[in-house]
Amino acid sequence: KRVLGIETSCDDTGAAVVDDDGNILGEALHSQIRNHLETGGIIPPIARDLHKEHIDRVVTLALERANLQLQDVDAIATTVKPGLPLSLMVGLDYARTLVKQSGLPFIPIHHMEAHALTARMIEPLEFPFLVLLLSGGHCLLALARDVDDFVLIGKNIDDAPGDAFDKTARRLRLKDIAGFEAVSGGQAIEQLAKGGNPRAFDCTPIMSRHSDCNFSFAGIKTQLATVITKEEQRQNVQDGGVLPNMADICASFQYQVLRHLAKRLQRGLLFCDLKKLLPSRNRTLVLSGGVASNQFLRDGLERMCAHYDCRLVAPPPPLCTDNGIMIAWNGIEKLKRGIGFANPEGMRVEHR
Ligand code: ATP
Ligand code: FE
Repeated sequence: KRVLGIETSCDDTGAAVVDDDGNILGEALHSQIRNHLETGGIIPPIARDLHKEHIDRVVTLALERANLQLQDVDAIATTVKPGLPLSLMVGLDYARTLVKQSGLPFIPIHHMEAHALTARMIEPLEFPFLVLLLSGGHCLLALARDVDDFVLIGKNIDDAPGDAFDKTARRLRLKDIAGFEAVSGGQAIEQLAKGGNPRAFDCTPIMSRHSDCNFSFAGIKTQLATVITKEEQRQNVQDGGVLPNMADICASFQYQVLRHLAKRLQRGLLFCDLKKLLPSRNRTLVLSGGVASNQFLRDGLERMCAHYDCRLVAPPPPLCTDNGIMIAWNGIEKLKRGIGFANPEGMRVEHR
């Protein structure tokens, strides 16, 4: 069986054909990051127009690369939530036309569930497992019990982690530094942090008194923004200038994010023990979402998990950020179970 997946939830137009063995038969992706860096963030009508401009080419290219016609796939899977409604609409409208043309079954996809299950395409992974999704819009800790059965254990109460990375990168004007034009704020911070001291600037612990498994990144972002302002004054860096100890600031920010994630995740694992939600030995945590492409965070969380007899599995970075492959794979998972089919006519997209 083969599924065509279409993704337009945010600022990436993605399409792919995947088979039931997890082989990627063809893929195409168009990123709008350059456009949005210019405006300092995503402006939804602009994102919509760019999706409209590229979707036909992207889907056609994915099929061409797979050496297939539309009739050769068994279903069309498309992200319908959560995301920017104007962006999601472009994918859904396009899929609707393809369904009308071909009569193929349609499978609506939840973008976060797709992020969560991508790991199962890479390696055999039995339910239940824990999943931590770190992305531009979410921080979710959930128990994956089945393809369509997730129990939410914790989430961000303010900024999403990717948002904190992007805002900190913007505050540091990283896009103005040569060589960083085309990458996300998160990638820019990770690269710069490699040369820095993660203990250069400390933060007061975040949520240390919260007896739940939620997350908060606004405090880390604000505390580091204060550090940046102080450093700019101390070093007399003028508007538009670049701080010489930028690397230390990036490394410290990343370290504080890791520290917070590790602390909250520890609580999550303890909670799972208490409620007997996971096997007590050889259990698995799946890490996914754009921020999960950060190697420093992956390494740190892997070490922490090992302590709790938990294996960390994270898809390769290109599968962590938005793409059509994960949508097609989620379609395959549902097709295999014979669940999730819907009529795209009259279907709505959802912001959350
Ligand atoms: P959501 O999945 O919540 O709807 P999204 O789809 O916009 O949000 P993703 O594509 O999953 O988000 O991730 C994008 C985010 O990942 C951006 O905020 C980006 O800065 C961040 N990111 C990408 N690479 C890295 C990295 N190496 N380190 C940290 N953050 C990163
Ligand atoms: Fe995403």
